[in-house]
Amino acid sequence: MVRTRFAPSPTGYLHIGGLRTALYAYLFARKNGGKFILRIEDTDQNREVAGAVDVIISALAKAGMDYDEGPIVGGAYGPYVQSERKEIYLEYAKKLLDSGDAYCCFCSKERLEDLHKSGATKYDKHCMKLGKAEVERRIAAGEPYVIRQNIPESGTSTYHDEVFGDVTVDFKDLEDNILIKSDGMPTYNFANVIDDHLMGITHCIRGVEYLMSTPKYNLLYDALGWERPVYIHLQPIMRDATHKLSKRDGDAGFEDFLAKGFLPHAIVNYIALLGWNPKDNREKLSMQELTDCFSIEGLQRSSSIFDETKMRWLNSLYIKEMPTDEFHAAAAPFYDKYCPDRNIDYRYLSELLQPRVEILSDIKEKTAFLDMFDGFDLELFVNKKWKTDAALAASLMDELVAETEKGVDGLGERLNAVAESRGLKKGQVLWIYRIALTGAAATPGGGEEMVKLFGVDECVKRLRSVKTRLGK
Ligand code: GLU
Repeated sequence: MVRTRFAPSPTGYLHIGGLRTALYAYLFARKNGGKFILRIEDTDQNREVAGAVDVIISALAKAGMDYDEGPIVGGAYGPYVQSERKEIYLEYAKKLLDSGDAYCCFCSKERLEDLHKSGATKYDKHCMKLGKAEVERRIAAGEPYVIRQNIPESGTSTYHDEVFGDVTVDFKDLEDNILIKSDGMPTYNFANVIDDHLMGITHCIRGVEYLMSTPKYNLLYDALGWERPVYIHLQPIMRDATHKLSKRDGDAGFEDFLAKGFLPHAIVNYIALLGWNPKDNREKLSMQELTDCFSIEGLQRSSSIFDETKMRWLNSLYIKEMPTDEFHAAAAPFYDKYCPDRNIDYRYLSELLQPRVEILSDIKEKTAFLDMFDGFDLELFVNKKWKTDAALAASLMDELVAETEKGVDGLGERLNAVAESRGLKKGQVLWIYRIALTGAAATPGGGEEMVKLFGVDECVKRLRSVKTRLGK
């Protein structure tokens, strides 16, 4: 059975590159009827951020990626957490010490710094030469030590990666990595191997930064007599041709895009296509469709550039097809933020905005008209295309008030009739009507829609006040 995992470090933030790694692991597991596992890699406790695990769990839930197993926490599956598994790693480190595939290293920070200053590019295996008795004596005396992996000094190792093909690394380029730190905590370099084996991971899907270290992990699998997983390394998502999209860009986080008003699945759909393609021209795919057509063969060896404009376009497609109630619920926090407590029909506002926004934060710009009425400049009645001005507006106000008072039913036709009876074009009357109702040159929908939005009474009040301002 296929088993994949997502193994983020809890840094308080889920980068969309990380989310894409999770997505591919998730899709591959689902496609093959396998299991998808969440494992929190928190062995570097200096980098740990409070609440970060919750951020990851909630991000995966919002993205629609449910994981399948883990220790039970509060009646549900929690993730596996490496810092809670310290003893397990120590047990395997001891096995490696016994077999000579690892050794204890007592070198001080100063010695390592001197070594580095002298031009050495890696650890010099100094402590490999210590005899068993000396090692035991120094441990008993309470000297701090780390456990290092014993990497062959010469030779090469080749393994197969599903995206990059055969990868060969020269052992002389590899350092004797620390497996267990002096506080007893494992490093990533050790814990990932132990856990991938114990959790039965069949396909290891992760960032390309681990491509060249993988031979070290393979040595550990071999030393412990374990089968290696299939490796699938992924190119990073790029900001441009030479820079990775990074946290420093300010908005590389999944939550940042949600806050901007992207829908979770639009983000998921877009990032799925950054590094993989479904071999046809489809760009809009549901989670089920992504699952059905996902394949390792579709993964690209070249990196992809993130294009927010394209993601906006995809988002607008999802927004357009939402049931209006769902759009209204999603828009509510944006109304609270940008235009709360207006005396308008918000549900109707949602009907007007849904076809007109690409992302939910466009609501800010699209609702600016709500605040333009008070004291607007009467010069706005001047429109070169329609040949309108304040004098024409003044001459129409009585009729506009009268037609508005009759209510919204049939209002459009009555306004047309006004235009006809005065020998004007419809557009002239509608321009004047919209300005008189809102003080805004651009509104979602025209005058009739504004009457529905603000209500007949408010609109009549507004028209009367404009009439007074026009001196009529
Ligand atoms: N904890 C590693 C990271 O966040 C995961 C690498 C892996 O998937 O093996 O980069």
